[in-house]
Amino acid sequence: MKVLTLQILVKANKLLIKKDKINTSSLLAFRFKLLSGTLPSRQLLYDRYPSTYTDNLCLRCLTAVEIQSHIFDCYKNFATYNEMENKIRTSLIKLVRKNNNKKLLTEIEKRTQN
Ligand SMILES: [Zn+2]
Repeated sequence: MKVLTLQILVKANKLLIKKDKINTSSLLAFRFKLLSGTLPSRQLLYDRYPSTYTDNLCLRCLTAVEIQSHIFDCYKNFATYNEMENKIRTSLIKLVRKNNNKKLLTEIEKRTQN
């Protein structure tokens, strides 16, 4: 499983490097940290620098220890995720309409009517 994930990441990174060299390095670093579990969560920072970080609580909700998975599970991020989902959906529909793919457009509209 890890080998497959790494292969997918390497292929995606090669495509990304060809497309946009300027913003690629920070995205590559983010992807690597995400997959290796080393995103700078409060828990990780607290473990590494206890004199600088006095606690390990999530700064958004202040109710949970911020481990890497909490960054994506924190209820304070849900509005942002919904906004991102809507932007992606809108872009996808525009792309499908531009390519005049009526069958795919019908399927997308059917699935997103809720
Ligand atoms: Zn939180």
